[in-house]
Amino acid sequence: MSQTTIEVLGLKAKLGLDVFKHDKEPHVKIRDGMAKDARLKAAVLVCPAGLYSENSAGEVELSIDGCLECGTCRIACGTEVLEWNYPTAGCGVQFRFG
Ligand code: SF4
Repeated sequence: MSQTTIEVLGLKAKLGLDVFKHDKEPHVKIRDGMAKDARLKAAVLVCPAGLYSENSAGEVELSIDGCLECGTCRIACGTEVLEWNYPTAGCGVQFRFG
């Protein structure tokens, strides 16, 4: 793939070059009872992979598939609302771009 081709790819296409190996359990979880906590709304804005969303009930949801393990959500929201760990060895993201 030429540099020019890579430059015109969108975010989703670039992330699609990475490979994700699923872990037994999600390595990032919203703590029980915290889905409506205002601190979580920051994750919707800052997650570079767009894995957080807010539903019509005002609850933040996380779909961990595609996590880049960057830790941005942990810094933005804090560990009182998020349980954040790296995946088990051998699982998680394998970067294919860059
Ligand atoms: Fe998103 Fe990074 Fe948090 Fe993964 S670690 S959910 S990519 S902000």
